[in-house]
Amino acid sequence: MLDGHGREIDYLRISVTDRCDLRCVYCMPEEGVSCMNHSDILTYEEILRIARCAASLGIHKIRVTGGEPLARLGIETLISGLKSIDGIKTVVLTTNGTHLAEKLPALKDAGLDGVNISIDAVNEEVFRRITRREGVDKVLRGIDAALACEGLRVKLNCVPTRMNEGQLALLARRFLRDNDISLRFIELMPIGMGGALEQMSEEQTRACLEAELGELHEIPGYDPREKCRYFGIDGYKGSVGFISAVSHKFCSDCNRVRLMSDGYLKTCLQYDDGVALREYLSGTDAELTQAMRNAILSKPACHHFSAEREQNDETRIMSQIGG
Ligand code: SAM
Ligand code: SF4
Repeated sequence: MLDGHGREIDYLRISVTDRCDLRCVYCMPEEGVSCMNHSDILTYEEILRIARCAASLGIHKIRVTGGEPLARLGIETLISGLKSIDGIKTVVLTTNGTHLAEKLPALKDAGLDGVNISIDAVNEEVFRRITRREGVDKVLRGIDAALACEGLRVKLNCVPTRMNEGQLALLARRFLRDNDISLRFIELMPIGMGGALEQMSEEQTRACLEAELGELHEIPGYDPREKCRYFGIDGYKGSVGFISAVSHKFCSDCNRVRLMSDGYLKTCLQYDDGVALREYLSGTDAELTQAMRNAILSKPACHHFSAEREQNDETRIMSQIGG
């Protein structure tokens, strides 16, 4: 469906939990957050019902995220349920990769179309400083398993900051030389803990990569709905991408809404606008769908992350929103 600003909304991100086994400095405080009670979190049946209503409004792509989605038991059941909904063409997952290697066979059997794996460093010490946990080996094993999984679309995501500046080219060398995949650099957003860190702009990240790898060549055919511009590197099969929500705002092409694990349908990353769908779960599907339609029609025109911080309405952090 079209929102109130004429944008086609066809992409739903579903956060299935606010829990996570890592504590990335830009996402969560060291002590973690007080997690929601299990009874406040949507069941898989409730998520599937909301997804069916969303599909009737024209949503055809779903991303399952978190917190860490693989931390929720039986996630493959949800994936296969989502895949069986009429109108849903693509179901993908964003994960920190720590449990991906062992869960991948079940996820693939459930019909998962693709996986985005977050990795900010290949070096254990840098990984530990950023995530405040050990385990880069597990993530690397998860990525290798995903790369070996036939038919699964794999993308890597990295948030560049001064903490992992020295790892950016290493990541590209490790994964892009022989694999036709992309490593996307996501500009740090001033949400939650993100506001306390020094951001690396797209230009700074690009300069850092080019100093080590040579010139990046823009790959034509930018798809505005994907929000990512891709670049090739001579001698490499893979590409790097830049998702720069702050410095290169892409709100005019925004196609997404977000379902939080407590049932709140959030219509803009920055603002708290949306609707608590839980209140409609006791009603009919028609009422639930109408509540979603109304929220989508009121989706804000754009974010103002680069403006004064007081304008940032959102009090949730990324592990609750789902990225
Ligand atoms: N736990 C999973 C993961 O890390 O991939 C999924 C949830 S996580 C919130 C989704 C994405 O958001 C990750 O790629 C993470 O790096 C990114 N992220 C978290 N906080 C961010 C921030 N302040 N600015 C930009 N990206 C952020
Ligand atoms: Fe966990 Fe993902 Fe947030 Fe890192 S970015 S703390 S892995 S939810």
